[in-house]
Amino acid sequence: MRLLPDTFRNRLALLIGSLSLVVSLPYYLYIDRFYGAQLEADRGNALTGLAMSVATLLAENLRERQREIDLLARTPIYLDDDGRVDNRKLTAMLDRLKQSYAYYSWIGFADMRGIVRAASGDLLVGQDVSQRPWFQQGRQGSFVGDLHEAVLLAKLLPAEPGGGPLRFIDFAAPVQDADGRQIGVMASHAHWSWADAILGRIEPVRREHQDVELFILDARDRIIYPENAGVTLDNAFLARLSSQRWSEDGQYLAALRPVPELFPDTPLNWTVLVRQPLAGVRQDVDQLQRALLLFGAGAALVLLVLAWLGARRTSRPIEQLARLADRIRRGDESAKLDVHASTRELETLFQSISGMAETLLARKGELERANENLESKVAERTRQLEDANVQLESLARKDALTGVLNRLAANERLEEEFRRLQRTGSVYSVLLLDIDYFKRINDTHGHDVGDQALQFTALLIRASIRATDFLYRVGGEEFLVLLPATGQEDALGVAEKIRATVESTPAPVVNRITLSVGTAQARPSDRNAESVVKRADQGLYAAKGAGRNCIMACMD
Ligand code: GH3
Ligand code: MG
Ligand code: MG
Repeated sequence: MRLLPDTFRNRLALLIGSLSLVVSLPYYLYIDRFYGAQLEADRGNALTGLAMSVATLLAENLRERQREIDLLARTPIYLDDDGRVDNRKLTAMLDRLKQSYAYYSWIGFADMRGIVRAASGDLLVGQDVSQRPWFQQGRQGSFVGDLHEAVLLAKLLPAEPGGGPLRFIDFAAPVQDADGRQIGVMASHAHWSWADAILGRIEPVRREHQDVELFILDARDRIIYPENAGVTLDNAFLARLSSQRWSEDGQYLAALRPVPELFPDTPLNWTVLVRQPLAGVRQDVDQLQRALLLFGAGAALVLLVLAWLGARRTSRPIEQLARLADRIRRGDESAKLDVHASTRELETLFQSISGMAETLLARKGELERANENLESKVAERTRQLEDANVQLESLARKDALTGVLNRLAANERLEEEFRRLQRTGSVYSVLLLDIDYFKRINDTHGHDVGDQALQFTALLIRASIRATDFLYRVGGEEFLVLLPATGQEDALGVAEKIRATVESTPAPVVNRITLSVGTAQARPSDRNAESVVKRADQGLYAAKGAGRNCIMACMD
């Protein structure tokens, strides 16, 4: 079923609408293919940047904490006048320092034997820490220890709010007296919630990309931040990430950056992992695609309507032209092309069609006139032919030499009279007349004179009978006279009149011509029309036998 009528205008509008859709398709595909990849690369680079920033931030904070302990270890103010450690002064100082930084859980000083001499809150004072890594490493030089669970302090400090184990990073530095002799180790334990505080500084970034996850991994790729992350990481993916700026495993886009080491000899080997679900990255592409699709469809619709309105200018002359052509087809000669085209091609088309229509109409008129001419010519020719036929008919029944009717006409008339006789009983008679010794005339005077004698005789016979009687030349010098409504008696009278006239009328050159005549009357009992002629012939034969120039009636 057609939604729209199949008009030029609708087609044009649909064409333009579809074209605009087709034009926006490459953009759609571009966004899908290239922009998607580009966006992924951009996000990958952004994640790498974020990982790097976090790693740097962590390293700087570690350095700061370490410097505090280093400074403290080198500060001579807590030594008494003899250069010995003043426990009271030191404890007060450590307490102040601990209060100055919320994430210090413990700061203390142990002598060379590993016995704690002074500590914030007096915790662990007198206890042996010689086996703790921070003490052993701290004797060698400045030290930052990996994250570990609290050992000695576990029972002395308040528990974690979440109920998990207390975890610390240790900072340590050797302490020397005024003479440069080492007298012990200064150390601090920073609570691991320190990491929260540091990462809290990048909170605005995380708020912007809520689906971005951030992890700190230790040397063995265990997640040390956030606590209880509940996430298992794929080692192969991590290995790949360590050699690339960023990568994706089909689910996540991720970047891995090492935390810069403070002490290359005792490296922490921490890394920062930042990842974002690919779906989140694609979200932007999808949104853009949807927007473009909507825009494309909207633009196509607007173009379609505009094209439909605009197509009117182009299509109206064509529709008018179509109507005009239809009028001309139906033979409307008054149809005139009064259309103004909107383009040069249409103008040319209209001129051509206009010229064609005029030629067509002119040809039609010519054809009609030629047809009329032809019809009248045919009618005239038909009339002439009919006349010729009539002439032919009469010619066929006329003797060329004498101008009297011939044997064909005699036979037709005899048949007609015979039919009338049988129908009405109306009798008729027949005379057969033959010129005597005609051969001699020919022989004596020549054929032309013979012809003239024949013409002369015919004239005499014609003059001797009535206008209602018929004269025929039925042989060389033989004539037949048909006398309608005439009996035997009257026929003999007519025969005698003819015979006497011919005998008594001198013919040119030949002078005397005589006739022998046989007569007969038609009877209803005759077998056919020829019967009466046969009897007349018998009479003629008898007349010849009787010496010629006489009349004999056949009475058989
Ligand atoms: P008969 O008295 O027995 O009739 O003798 P005839 O000579 O008249 O008869 P025949 O039959 O012997 O000869 C008839 C002649 O008529 C022979 C022929 O040459 C001549 N004839 C026939 N038709 C024509 C014609 O049209 N013109 C001329 N000039 N002669 C004709
Ligand atoms: Mg004869
Ligand atoms: Mg004769």
